[in-house]
Amino acid sequence: MLNIILFGKPGSGKGTQAEFIKEKYKLVHISTGDLFRQNIKNKTDLGKLAQKFINNGDLVPDNVTIGMLKAEVDSNYNAKGFLFDGFPRTVDQAISLDNYLEKVKLKIDLTISIDVKDDILIERILKRGLTSERKDDQDKIKIKNRFDEYNSKTAFLEEYYKNQNKFKIIDGFGNIDEVTERLYIEIDKLIK
Ligand code: ADP
Repeated sequence: MLNIILFGKPGSGKGTQAEFIKEKYKLVHISTGDLFRQNIKNKTDLGKLAQKFINNGDLVPDNVTIGMLKAEVDSNYNAKGFLFDGFPRTVDQAISLDNYLEKVKLKIDLTISIDVKDDILIERILKRGLTSERKDDQDKIKIKNRFDEYNSKTAFLEEYYKNQNKFKIIDGFGNIDEVTERLYIEIDKLIK
């Protein structure tokens, strides 16, 4: 089993890189952002609940997110490993994930943080907002709010995983292939 968390600010490229990583290492990719967007599209109760938080750039409450995540892990019990993208985003989520994985005799192997400067991130997000339908990508105030949420709730996870010796930062600047290569180097170290 190989269980990896892709970590980074909004727009850092987690989703893009996850596509390559999941293929190469045959991992089940769990993106909480994608799961929420699917639920919104299908107008499920969960989607209706999450929608207003997401559109404003707020985090969805922990109890909702954690429940959704566990259900997703459960329904993939035969996976070779998981690639978590966009989860955990709060220390409570991280603690829940650790407790849950322990119960099913699994653990996180590594959290890899994709590091990109804020001004580049904002540029990337606004550009994505031109072609995607994501309302949270189209408004500078909502984008700023996502960064505030990151700084006030998510940034603490760096310390959480550093304390467990499971935190690695890679440079997220450069073209997509270069960043993918940097990620592969770190993941390959885990399987040698
Ligand atoms: P990005 O990382 O580009 O901001 P995501 O697609 O990962 O985008 O997430 C979009 C939105 O979904 C977040 O701004 C948040 O509202 C919600 N969301 C995703 N993951 C979580 C989570 N783990 N906890 C709470 N809210 C989440």
